[in-house]
Amino acid sequence: MEYRPTIGLEIHAELKTRTKMFCDSKNDPDETRPNVNVCPVCMGHPGTLPVINKEAVRHVVRVGVAVDGKIADFTEFDRKNYFYPDIPKGYQISQYKYPLVKGGKLAGIPLTRVHLEEDTAKSFHKDTYSLIDFNRAGVPLMELVTEPAIKSAEEASRFAKELQLLLQYLGASDANMEKGEMRVEANVSIVPQAKNFREFLRAFIFRDPSRAGTKYGGRLGVKVEVKNLNSFRAVERAIAYEIGRQKKLLEKGEPVAQETRGWDENKQETFSQRTKEESHDYRYFPDPDLPKLRLSELPEFSHEALRQDLPELPRERRARYRADFGIQDKDAEILVTNRTLGEYFENTAQELGRDQRKIKLAFNYLVSDVIGLMRWDDDHPITDIGKIRMSTHHFAELIKMTAANEITSRTAKDLLVLMVSDGGDPREIARERGLFQKSDEAELEGTVKKIIAENAAVADDYKKGNEKVLQFFVGQGMRATKGAANPAVLAKLFKRFLS
Ligand code: ADP
Ligand code: MG
Repeated sequence: MEYRPTIGLEIHAELKTRTKMFCDSKNDPDETRPNVNVCPVCMGHPGTLPVINKEAVRHVVRVGVAVDGKIADFTEFDRKNYFYPDIPKGYQISQYKYPLVKGGKLAGIPLTRVHLEEDTAKSFHKDTYSLIDFNRAGVPLMELVTEPAIKSAEEASRFAKELQLLLQYLGASDANMEKGEMRVEANVSIVPQAKNFREFLRAFIFRDPSRAGTKYGGRLGVKVEVKNLNSFRAVERAIAYEIGRQKKLLEKGEPVAQETRGWDENKQETFSQRTKEESHDYRYFPDPDLPKLRLSELPEFSHEALRQDLPELPRERRARYRADFGIQDKDAEILVTNRTLGEYFENTAQELGRDQRKIKLAFNYLVSDVIGLMRWDDDHPITDIGKIRMSTHHFAELIKMTAANEITSRTAKDLLVLMVSDGGDPREIARERGLFQKSDEAELEGTVKKIIAENAAVADDYKKGNEKVLQFFVGQGMRATKGAANPAVLAKLFKRFLS
């Protein structure tokens, strides 16, 4: 039996703001001393009152505009009640019924909502006790929820990467997964793909009966939520593992239990954390300490104002690279994800005018040769192209020289290495070292005659009709001139003097 996987993601991102979500304690993800960025508000002391952080609202609304979502006219914050030591008030302020953003689309995946809440404190569990660091308690946290519309583990990690990139472009979050600034939860289900009616009836038994008639119409299987995914690789592996695990269960005729599972990085498998029966009733209700928000009444939150204020988005940059430089999305990706590299390329392209052929050449040299050099060591690659010595002006000059056949591509590659290491004007270096392409027949004649004389046996071979050895001679000519000779001219001369 074939199975069709469905995945929905819930992604949290810590927002980059000066202060926390509801108080003026600092929001500093780099603070290493525990419990220094705290105050009575984020410690949940009685009698304190929260105040909404406008900067955080703005970040989420900008994300909403960037994904073409619907920004709420009316929105409010709710209390999500549960008890845990990392939640000092006994509830988390979140949004339930009226999220800031509804709908929208990213990387082709429809979104359900984007809302704003506060982060919890961090707990450190020791053998017989736990420690809590409240620096993170009350930090603004964005939650984005996708529709159950993702069809594979790869598509899920691609989506998460695209969201990370978007948040970075918007300056909403650094979204570093290792630092926990972006956290992914994956909801995974599979459903048997019936080939005939009998199979369909058999398969139907394993669908979650409680979901029939709900918003997904019982078309989907029982979902399992997987938590603690701290890298894109973990996202991909955990989902793939879960799909496999669920298949095995269904094949044995056993149902999939609706539950929350964790990802064990060492064992590379998911494990049960909490079943549906133990799930919380959060008793959501609107927080009476906070005002309702009518965003449309604030001019600075008007759709037009926000739209105008957005930087160029990743998808827009891809479209521009396609239109202006003729570079396809897949090739452009490295320039879109590494922004300093993208800027370097754009400055070079600027120097090359609108000449697509030269721009393509620059792109190829940059992406294969220059990046190849920058990745000199897997563990210590140079990621910021600003650290190499070659200026975009000189790089463009090198491209012009290559495009005009003033130097051979082999010389260009040698020059690149010199320029990356020491900088300098390629025209000057080529002049000093005699690297300009030699097309002058008179100048190359001597070299050609010398090579023929030194390889008399091969020359005889050629004269007997073995034309393949011409390649050998041209190769020798290139070697003798350190790659500077024009190979076509060399071939012509060898033919002339060998006959
Ligand atoms: P819950 O009420 O359990 O939180 P939601 O309907 O709010 O469930 O969905 C939470 C997340 O789970 C969303 O990302 C949604 O797309 C996803 N999801 C819901 N049902 C399924 C399913 N059957 N299979 C996969 N993902 C699902
Ligand atoms: Mg939910």
